[in-house]
Amino acid sequence: MTRLEGRISIITGGAAGIGLATARRFAQEGAIVVVCDRNTAAVQAAVQALTADGHQALGYTVDVTDRASIAAMIDDVKAKQGRIDVLVNNAGITQDARLSRMTEEQFDAVINVNLKGVFNCTQAVADIMVEQGSGVILTASSVVGLYGNFGQTNYAATKFGVIGFTKTWARELGPKGIRVNAVCPGFIETDILKTIPEKVLESLRATSWQRRLGQPEEIASVYAFLASDDASYINGTTIEVSGGMSL
Ligand code: NAD
Repeated sequence: MTRLEGRISIITGGAAGIGLATARRFAQEGAIVVVCDRNTAAVQAAVQALTADGHQALGYTVDVTDRASIAAMIDDVKAKQGRIDVLVNNAGITQDARLSRMTEEQFDAVINVNLKGVFNCTQAVADIMVEQGSGVILTASSVVGLYGNFGQTNYAATKFGVIGFTKTWARELGPKGIRVNAVCPGFIETDILKTIPEKVLESLRATSWQRRLGQPEEIASVYAFLASDDASYINGTTIEVSGGMSL
């Protein structure tokens, strides 16, 4: 499939987990992938693996909380590739604690990466996409951004927040030819779940009507669909990909 042939696609947090699976899927569909992550060694490994497989990929060390590192990456991509077609706001972290125990540092850290980071990256690409008259912006929300979750005051606020971004930007940018959507994964087997005890993971498997956790590739395929012209009339929405958790 070459639905994304030649599309310059920036993926934040693209060096691991869902982001890496998305980078692979986009590359397989013909995109020129821009892997952005704060983990430099992982960026290098991801780009090496993609190019070894015959794909086109660029890598940048970018911290989404650092507007200067984002601007430097965007300037370089624009200079080298001439355009930016897709932004996948995927970088995200958790720092869980119940309300009474959550520190201000934990609260601020998660807000800074998951919420302000999405604002930083989207603001950096929006004018370029408006000038082109086309573009796609996709953001990682979560089922936690639909239903909340015990111990995730900070994370839930960010994942609800990016749905607000999505609906607002769909209105602001839709008339300029840009589509903006969010994906709400259920519980997907990546490093982000490493802090969750096996007993809790077992109960999470039970909440999915498919009785299992999801795989990163099952989110990557939804991002690829939303980035492609197959989703040409989908704007300002959220797609839940959770095996039917909410049923
Ligand atoms: P992960 O921890 O496996 O990977 C996250 C990647 O983001 C890492 O490579 C990390 O280095 C990078 N990153 C973290 N902070 C960054 C920053 N400040 N700047 C740049 N890069 C940064 O996580 P994942 O499970 O693949 O999650 C990806 C996204 O999907 C996150 O936004 C997460 O909230 C969301 N999500 C995940 C799940 C799940 O169950 N795995 C469920 C719902 C939503």
